[in-house]
Amino acid sequence: MVNRRAFNGMLMAAAARVARGRLKALIVDGRNNHDWRATSPLLEKILSTGGLFQVAFATAPPVNARMAEFSPAFSSCDVIVLNYSDFGNGGEWPENTRAAFQRAVQSGVGVVVYHAASSAFPAWPEYNRITGLGGWAGRDERSGPYLFWKDDSIIRATDPAKAGHHGPRHEFAITARQPQHPILAGLPSVWMHASDELYDTLRGPAQELEVLATAWSDPTFQGTGRHEPMLFTVRYGAGRVFHITLGHDPEAMRCSGFQVVIRRGAEWAATGRVRQAAPGVFPTDRRVQLSPL
Ligand code: ZN
Repeated sequence: MVNRRAFNGMLMAAAARVARGRLKALIVDGRNNHDWRATSPLLEKILSTGGLFQVAFATAPPVNARMAEFSPAFSSCDVIVLNYSDFGNGGEWPENTRAAFQRAVQSGVGVVVYHAASSAFPAWPEYNRITGLGGWAGRDERSGPYLFWKDDSIIRATDPAKAGHHGPRHEFAITARQPQHPILAGLPSVWMHASDELYDTLRGPAQELEVLATAWSDPTFQGTGRHEPMLFTVRYGAGRVFHITLGHDPEAMRCSGFQVVIRRGAEWAATGRVRQAAPGVFPTDRRVQLSPL
């Protein structure tokens, strides 16, 4: 006979075992020039699907509130998901928080840089080293080279120009350039992404950076006429970084390709491997595939 107290203890221990088996993802939000209140719960839902991740949030104080106490427990998670930008909102992190973030990534905590996080912290060199490429917020040739794909390789252009732009949203094809990378292995090498912003002319330190997939930036939609990096990885110390430029809003996040790729990218950033089974539904090279969230 097991008494109630012992039984509750067993339940708690079992819950802890389950929690230990999952990877810990920490979504950092609270400031963004995008609607983080709408996108963060969807990120949580996407990452939680399949039971791989246990998701927690570190939400910065609101605009005009002091940032001094904002101190997420970066080192206690497996992967930090950045749904955060200080662009135009005064959300710069205090020195201690910046140092803690750098230390965590250096020592092996993974990072997912999601959409507008590439506009954050233009004057923080190590953040830009971690994200690899960024745009807006005054970035230009001083931020580093502009990377695009041409003739089966990456071009690093250094000519003076502003960094960061997108035309009107539209559906566009994502083309794998490293189809054997664990994040992309087994997926179609070309797939149609749901209507979204197509970032172009991103610039940054771009060290230890590998472009996994690009998209043709169509001049019809005010694009560059070049193949722009959409998915890429960065190594920073022992840390793995997965940078995904996609996912402007809930509509774009309904793309099943986006959902599969960000979940696989988060697992790779956390562990260096991808153990997720092949997705049941996925876009083709002709057709967008939406999954309700
Ligand atoms: Zn956007």
